[in-house]
Amino acid sequence: MPDKQTLPTPITRLTAQKRPAVRLAVRVLVLFCFLLVGAQAWSVWTARETRLAENSASTANMAGALAAQAESTVRIVDTVLAGVVERVEHDGLSSASSDRLRLHLRNMVAEVGQLHGLFVYGADGSWLVSSLDRPITGNNADREYFQYHLKHADRGVHVGKPIRSRSTGVWVLPISRRIDHPDGSFAGVALGTIRIEFFADLYDSFDVGREGVILLTLDDATMIYRRPFNEKLIGTSVAGGPIFQMYRTRGPVGTAILRSKVDGVVRLYSYRHLDNLPLIVATARSKHEILEEWQQSALLLTGGTVLIVLILALVGMRLVRQIVIRDQLEAELRIAEEHLQERNQALTVLATNDGLTGIANRRHFDDTLARELSRATRTAAPLSLVLLDVDFFKKYNDRYGHVAGDDCLRQVAGCLRKSLGRPADLAARYGGEEFAVLLPATGQVGARYVAERLRQAILELAIPHADNPGGVVTISAGVHTHQALPDEMTEAEDFVARADALLYRAKMGGRNRVCSDLDTVDAAPVSFTV
Ligand code: GH3
Ligand code: MG
Ligand code: MG
Repeated sequence: MPDKQTLPTPITRLTAQKRPAVRLAVRVLVLFCFLLVGAQAWSVWTARETRLAENSASTANMAGALAAQAESTVRIVDTVLAGVVERVEHDGLSSASSDRLRLHLRNMVAEVGQLHGLFVYGADGSWLVSSLDRPITGNNADREYFQYHLKHADRGVHVGKPIRSRSTGVWVLPISRRIDHPDGSFAGVALGTIRIEFFADLYDSFDVGREGVILLTLDDATMIYRRPFNEKLIGTSVAGGPIFQMYRTRGPVGTAILRSKVDGVVRLYSYRHLDNLPLIVATARSKHEILEEWQQSALLLTGGTVLIVLILALVGMRLVRQIVIRDQLEAELRIAEEHLQERNQALTVLATNDGLTGIANRRHFDDTLARELSRATRTAAPLSLVLLDVDFFKKYNDRYGHVAGDDCLRQVAGCLRKSLGRPADLAARYGGEEFAVLLPATGQVGARYVAERLRQAILELAIPHADNPGGVVTISAGVHTHQALPDEMTEAEDFVARADALLYRAKMGGRNRVCSDLDTVDAAPVSFTV
């Protein structure tokens, strides 16, 4: 069973947030989308403002043109009236001059299209002369224009409130002038009336859209005509409406988007006060109609932008996902490689180390020996081998048990490993309770010294061994040193056999001793000092 801690990291733990490249890609994508949406929003907004500005200019121009037209209409009537006043004041109204004047009035009405009628009233308001065919009777002293001239001595033109004509019953706009006696006292009024229908015909020819409005009012807010036409509105006050709100704050000319009091529609209004007459002309187009076309193209553009952003987001997400998956796979591969390396190392340890003692096993020893032998042959360097065997170990097992025997072997092995000084030295378990220590580049004297040190070290472990004469665990060692001649190869078996023979001699010599090539006779007896 593999150890849980050495398992590879799961893919799910490797997230996109951990990758700077992915983070950068996501940021660039989001920024690009924002820029795109921002640019489109700006262009849509600019198109809206441009459209409103263009319409502001065109409604203002239309208001200007209609104002000029209204002024000239009134001026023509006024010019006719000025002539009539001049005639009445100079010629008087004898029977003959009355007839001549009536003819003149008729001719004028016939010639000037916008004129509905021309009338001359006496100082008491009685009808004196008119452009009408039938004889006239009655009194107009009650009319607003009559009362105005009666009370005001000025001889200028007066534009009155719209009224329904007493002679024909149609709605008319009264234009009047005062007639004086030679001494300057009030002699009557000359009146010219313009048919409201005249403005209707004119204003209906302008294109202001389905919900557009054209207004003609007096500057006291009295409605003269409004397109679309509603007879009930004639003569009413529009003082609370948007035009007069603007007029009061901005003066004679103005343009603004406002909501109508009459029908609640939001419109772009433009108005103009006539220069020398008490009249105001206004035109207005519905904001909804002005922006209708723009709204359609804005909707199309917005839809297109949303689509592009969606496609970008989808492609980006796919791209990021692929980067993440690739990164995850790379990370997983890296972890798997590390894991494999660890496993290989563990396997190598298992393959080369002894399971019980942890030092090199027999196979590792054999490989190292073969390599060192060939190196020693190549370099002509000495190579020494110490074979060690625990004394009376069978009896140790018998007395203390196999488990204690194993533990004893572990202690001996550990002691051997610790007692070796050079990195190239190798301690191995050769088999059973036999150990081998390989000492490269070590001559006979050095090897014997090392072997003796090892024997002493194990003795000093002082592992109790009642069946050993010294009472503690001891080892015997055979030390053989190989001094190769150039190109003279020595077999590993021979090399080990020589050490083994020396070990045998050590055993035969009484155990707990070292026997080397230097010992021509049996090694001197060793005293147990533990
Ligand atoms: P001597 O070497 O001094 O001549 O006597 P000996 O008793 O050590 O010799 P022998 O080689 O006959 O006995 C070796 C004993 O080592 C036999 C076996 O019971 C024991 N032995 C070998 N391998 C192991 C091991 O892995 N664990 C334990 N506990 N004992 C082992
Ligand atoms: Mg043995
Ligand atoms: Mg033994």
